[in-house]
Amino acid sequence: MDRIPFNVPALAGRELENIREALEKKFHISGNGPFTRLCQEYLERYLGGGQVLLTHSCTAALEMSAILAEIGPGDEVIMPSYTFTSTANAFVLRGATPVFIDIRPDTLNLDETLVEQAITPRTKAICVVHYAGVAAEMDVIMAIAERHGLTVIEDAAQGIYGSWRDRPLGSIGQMAAFSFHETKNIISGEGGALIVNDPALFERAEIVWEKGTNRAQFQRGEIARYTWVDVGSSFLPSELIAAFLHSQLENGPEITQRRVAAWNYYYDAFASMEETGSLKRPVVPQSCTHNGHIFYLTMRDAEQRDKVLKTLQSTGIHAIIHYVPLHSAPAGLRYGRCGSNMTHTDSISSRLVRLPMHARLDRATQDRVIEAIRSVLT
Ligand SMILES: *Cc1c(COP(=O)(O)O)cnc(C)c1O
Repeated sequence: MDRIPFNVPALAGRELENIREALEKKFHISGNGPFTRLCQEYLERYLGGGQVLLTHSCTAALEMSAILAEIGPGDEVIMPSYTFTSTANAFVLRGATPVFIDIRPDTLNLDETLVEQAITPRTKAICVVHYAGVAAEMDVIMAIAERHGLTVIEDAAQGIYGSWRDRPLGSIGQMAAFSFHETKNIISGEGGALIVNDPALFERAEIVWEKGTNRAQFQRGEIARYTWVDVGSSFLPSELIAAFLHSQLENGPEITQRRVAAWNYYYDAFASMEETGSLKRPVVPQSCTHNGHIFYLTMRDAEQRDKVLKTLQSTGIHAIIHYVPLHSAPAGLRYGRCGSNMTHTDSISSRLVRLPMHARLDRATQDRVIEAIRSVLT
C-alpha cells in the first residue's frame, strides 16, 4: 500500500505565474516590492487593523518583536515550555531569560492561571503560543499584562485563520508573528510576517526590518536619501517568496476549510475510542475557532503512544510526536528557568501523537490511519 505522508505542500493556483510576473513584468525580485505590499495589504485587511511586515520566517518576526519590545539583558519573558525553540531564542538573543510556565491540559496553551505568580520586577513581556491554531485565554492574559505593564506578543505561527471571540489570532497582542513555513497551513517554503498592533511601534518596526535604515520612508518619497538610524537586520523576504505567498493567501479561506473538514472527520471517527478511555481528542473551547492546523491525540501513557507510533510507522503512515519541552532541553537549562511546575508539559509531550494533516488529505486515506490506530487499541 502507498505510504501516507504527514504533510503534502501544495500549490494553491497562481504561484508560478506570480513568480514569472515578478521577474518579467515587475522587474523586482529583492524585498519590499509590489507582491510584498499585496501580501501585507491582504493581511492587514484580513486582520482588520494592525500593520504587517512580511519577513523571511516567523522566527525573524519574533526576533523583530523582541527588539521592538526593547527586551534586553536581565529581562524576563514568560512563555510556555511546550513550544518551538524560536519562541525562546528570539528573547535569548537579546540577553533575556525565558521563564517557562506549564500548559493547560485541555488546549495545551500556556496556563493563564500560572502567569501572575511567575511575574518578577524583571518581567517585560508575555509570549503566548496559539497551539494548533486554538487561542490561548487572551482576555485573562491581556488583563494581567495591562495590570503589570507588560508587552504581549502572540506567537501565532500556527494561528492564521484561527480566531478568539471572533477576533483573528494575531490581532490581539501588541505584536504577533505568523509562519508560512512549508509545514504550516499557508506556505511559501520559508516565510513569515510581523503584525504590529500598537501603532506607536510601527515606524521603528519598518527601520528594524530594513537593516536599521529609513529606506522604506525613502521608497515612499518621504525623505530625500536614506541612512542608518537604528539597529536592524535583513528581515525581508524576496519578491519571489512574496509572489508565491500571495496566491496562497488568496486561497487561504479555502485551504483552511479543507483542513478543517479533514480535522472534523478525524474528530468524529475517534469519538468512540475516547468514550472507552483509550485516548483523548483535542479540545477546542467555545470561544475559539481553529484552523485545522494540527490533529493530535493524547494516549493513556508514553508506552501506548510509542506503540501507536511504531504500528503506524510499520504500515507506512507518517505520524509524529510534537514538542520536546524547552525547559529540560540543553539550551533551555542554560538560558531559561521554570516559573511553575511542568506537570502537564512533561506528561502531554510524552503521550501526544500528530496524525497526517494537510489540505489534500482524502477520507479513504484518513480511514486507513483511523483503522491502524483502532487496531493498536483493541
Ligand atoms: C513553526 C513555528 C515557529 C517557527 O516558524 P518559522 O517560520 O519556521 O520560523 C515558531 N513558533 C511556533 C509555535 C511554530 O509552530
